[in-house]
Amino acid sequence: MAYYIGVDIGGTNTACGIVDDECKIIARSKVKTNPKGDGVPDYAGALGEIKRAVREACEAAGIAPSDAHSIGIGCPGICNSDLGVVEYASNLGFWNAPIKADMEKEFGIPVYLDNDANAAAFGEFSAGGAKGSNSAVVITLGTGVGSGIIIDGKIYRGANFAGGEIGHTVIVLDGMPCSCGRRGCFEAYSSATGLVRMTTQASELNPDSIMTRMIREEGKVSARTAYNAMKQGDPVGKAVTEQYIKYLACGIANVINTFQPDILCIGGGVCNEGDPLMIPLRAAVAEQVYSKNSPKNTKIEVCRLANEAGIIGAAMLYKS
Ligand SMILES: [Zn+2]
Repeated sequence: MAYYIGVDIGGTNTACGIVDDECKIIARSKVKTNPKGDGVPDYAGALGEIKRAVREACEAAGIAPSDAHSIGIGCPGICNSDLGVVEYASNLGFWNAPIKADMEKEFGIPVYLDNDANAAAFGEFSAGGAKGSNSAVVITLGTGVGSGIIIDGKIYRGANFAGGEIGHTVIVLDGMPCSCGRRGCFEAYSSATGLVRMTTQASELNPDSIMTRMIREEGKVSARTAYNAMKQGDPVGKAVTEQYIKYLACGIANVINTFQPDILCIGGGVCNEGDPLMIPLRAAVAEQVYSKNSPKNTKIEVCRLANEAGIIGAAMLYKS
């Protein structure tokens, strides 16, 4: 049995897992990414904690770090996978951080680096919703839209390691402002944040709707609100979900027309809706894709690994 160490660096916590040949996490550990907790993150402090996380996870698995095949690291920001350097992760205070060299010096086994969205996508490709495919696109609908593209089993990174940002392709010209500075990005409409905005706007225009009453009772709007209202027979809730699916389907059809992957996998809390989301989404995408009559059209699936995708994908980066 071979073991692979996966590290998922996050803004608050860093999780580490020992992954076996079958992509199962057999032991794990968690540390604070910024141990000082002073709001001023720095690479040196984080590096010490990442090393500790690796040692603790190995201890929990009953192995020495040197017994593992390799360490894979998923990190936010722009990660130069060739050099193993985090060029830029502003939230973490990492600037040209040579994490591959530092970790290889510490543990004496090969270290692989990629950004967190690519690592999570590679997790779904290796062991989740896109398992068994040759080419896959993984899109996570959260606060923003994260994405990763895998072509012929390899992560597509672009010439400068900033490729695969599907969230920042425009689907509405001169549309809503996006965090990236453009207007009308896929992310601004298809993220959970976008759905919450559409729900809020529809509620304001329809103060007597079931949905507005639900918002008053719950005291907040979530990505679930419109779906819950629809399930209670509210036409306003239904209209919001239909509008959301329209945007989502547009962005997904763009991606399919570009890459025609075997599988396109979507994840994030919104996907917990299941059939009420997926059935109309698949139908709307099928109407729009260029390859309408192909017998081998892209399958649209739901991600299966949730929070484990980052660790498993990082552990498998040696193959990417
Ligand atoms: Zn954008």
